[in-house]
Amino acid sequence: MLLSRPLIDGELWWSALARHAERIGLGQLVPRHLMLIGNHCSLGSPLFPRQLTELNRRMQLAKTTDSIIRRHTALPFYRPFLAPAKIAAATASMTGNGNVEFELGLAAMKDHPKVLKYCPACVQADLTDFGEAAWRVVHQLPGSVLCAAHHCSLHNTPVSARFTGQYVKLVTINMAGPGTPLNPPDSALDDLRWLAAANWDLLLGNPAQPGPAKLAEFYRRILTERGLRDDFGRLKFAELVGAFQDRFRTLLPVVSCQLLDPDNRDNWLARIVRYPRNEQSPLKHLLVIRFLGLDLLPTLQAAAALPEPERNSPKPRPPARRSKHVTLEKVTQHREQWLALRRNWTGGSLREHADTLYCWLWRNDNAWLKAHAR
Ligand SMILES: [Zn+2]
Repeated sequence: MLLSRPLIDGELWWSALARHAERIGLGQLVPRHLMLIGNHCSLGSPLFPRQLTELNRRMQLAKTTDSIIRRHTALPFYRPFLAPAKIAAATASMTGNGNVEFELGLAAMKDHPKVLKYCPACVQADLTDFGEAAWRVVHQLPGSVLCAAHHCSLHNTPVSARFTGQYVKLVTINMAGPGTPLNPPDSALDDLRWLAAANWDLLLGNPAQPGPAKLAEFYRRILTERGLRDDFGRLKFAELVGAFQDRFRTLLPVVSCQLLDPDNRDNWLARIVRYPRNEQSPLKHLLVIRFLGLDLLPTLQAAAALPEPERNSPKPRPPARRSKHVTLEKVTQHREQWLALRRNWTGGSLREHADTLYCWLWRNDNAWLKAHAR
């Protein structure tokens, strides 16, 4: 079985299957599914197909499965921002029959696209060149509102971009009918052009893959250079959140990104720039990089070159609440006193012996004391 027309550059793999199905005219879901793959297992979703090794073999394409994943699925967009183990698990799910959306934690990413989009100018160019139009990977990525090639607004369609069940519904742009232009506000256009170009670079620019921990370390270094850390090395977080929110207030709803809750010290910006625990959407990283005024590919490269941050090492944290009388000088003085006592101490409880000093540190430098109590 051969695809009626080879994969178009930058086309979703799912789009090529849809064009194939439309051409051979097999309308019924289950027989078409069986004809394509020969089993009842799912073919995945438009952005994250499954059973690629078997489908590639049956379609007799002169392509490796790896090149299909790199050029015809959304995975390269996630690669620089997620832990390598997650990317490896997602790759295995796509070549085999696993739950890619689960591996990547997409259910928690609010900006994960709901419907497929297209650019009318790209569609027109496809019709002229090939006689049929392709769904492009880059148009489906979170943050893609404009076409990177034509700078025009993309159009939403009613076709789901999500996993819809065991037997995949294959819909071409032709079958989807005319869509609705997204028409973003003028004030967001500069940032949207930047995001469109960034998404393009992530797919085609062979970006470095630093992962979330190195990226967080890199952001913290930049924020320190910009004076957004106090004498204790603590991030001036409220200031950062305020500036970020002001900068992107119009843009965030346009790209379906959550607004930040300034009262929540564990909001998504904190989870990206402080100590990353959960995977965050690549779009959020792009917004942080844009906010810092950095170029995407050099940033990823510089972050990837950093040494692996130590895991589980207690970071020196200043106290959560601190009176203005607690100066850096006083903290250093008390720390030195404690360390000097501890160095020569051979008796019983040092805490009981130096109760006043212990209490002062406990109140004013708690995290440090916990790391140096014994
Ligand atoms: Zn276009």
